[in-house]
Amino acid sequence: MKLLDGKELSLELQKEIAAEVAAHIADGGRKPHLAAVLIGNNPASKSYVGHKVKACAKAGFVSSLVERSEDITQEELLTIVKDLNEDESVDGFIIQLPLPSHIDDQAVIKAVKPSKDVDGFHPENVGRMALNLPTFLPATPGGIMTLLERNGVKTSGMHAVVIGRSDIVGNPMTSLLSRNSDPGNCTVTQCHSRTVDLKSHTLKADLLIAAVGRPHFITADMVKDGAVVVDVGINSIADASRKSGMRLTGDVDFENVAEKCSLITPVPGGVGPMTIATLLQNTLRARLASTS
Ligand code: NAD
Repeated sequence: MKLLDGKELSLELQKEIAAEVAAHIADGGRKPHLAAVLIGNNPASKSYVGHKVKACAKAGFVSSLVERSEDITQEELLTIVKDLNEDESVDGFIIQLPLPSHIDDQAVIKAVKPSKDVDGFHPENVGRMALNLPTFLPATPGGIMTLLERNGVKTSGMHAVVIGRSDIVGNPMTSLLSRNSDPGNCTVTQCHSRTVDLKSHTLKADLLIAAVGRPHFITADMVKDGAVVVDVGINSIADASRKSGMRLTGDVDFENVAEKCSLITPVPGGVGPMTIATLLQNTLRARLASTS
């Protein structure tokens, strides 16, 4: 078993991004600027945004954070989006999900200018992705594709099983893996909460992507010998040995599954850092596109 080390690769990518930023500035350009909109006090959302802001600084980007309380109205949030769309100093921005339940998140996502939609969630960008046209790939599945590519995983002809059908992970992942591209060219089965006999599907997977959000959901008896396993899940579980009393774990029972795999991502240190690196790549692309 070999680790698919997202932490190490993301550091490499951040260096490459920083070099491109330096070259752009030497050419008379300016630093890319990523803005993040954070609504409410969800600790996980705060932590994700914190990591993104830190990574921006490391890569030589400008970052800004627009923070508002949980009771923001839809109109107020749409005004923030409009201002960011019009602000020429901002190259790209993200609205950290989930939003409070009284907000129509699709209406907010639709209001983002597609050329600044570095999360790749706008329907226009989702459509472009589905048609294999140039666009911003959603950061998590985009990062997984880079992780596979840079580790030389030959996905062509593989049977990939994606568990999950969310708009941010499962659905785009399914679309990207079935593309006529490298990586890609997989035969993809997409499983979800209504799938009957999940194990009968996962056992056929040469490439298994778990994006469920349940700790240790994928056990060793569900995995084919020699499979490549990508664990997207980020779950917080109790751990009395830690000062905080908790730790992060994935959807895969890593200890037992790892023995059966050829390659596997750890949690933390697998998909998470790749997600952030891809967001930076998208923002750099947005900056370069606005000057061309
Ligand atoms: P989600 O809750 O929107 O989707 C979960 C999916 O799991 C659903 O589509 C559902 O159909 C499926 N599911 C639920 N129970 C199932 C079952 N018994 N059998 C088969 N499928 C089942 O979650 P999401 O936003 O797609 O995120 C999934 C996980 O990935 C979460 O743990 C999330 O925190 C994590 N995540 C990590 C990153 C990262 O950067 N590493 C990014 C996004 C999400």
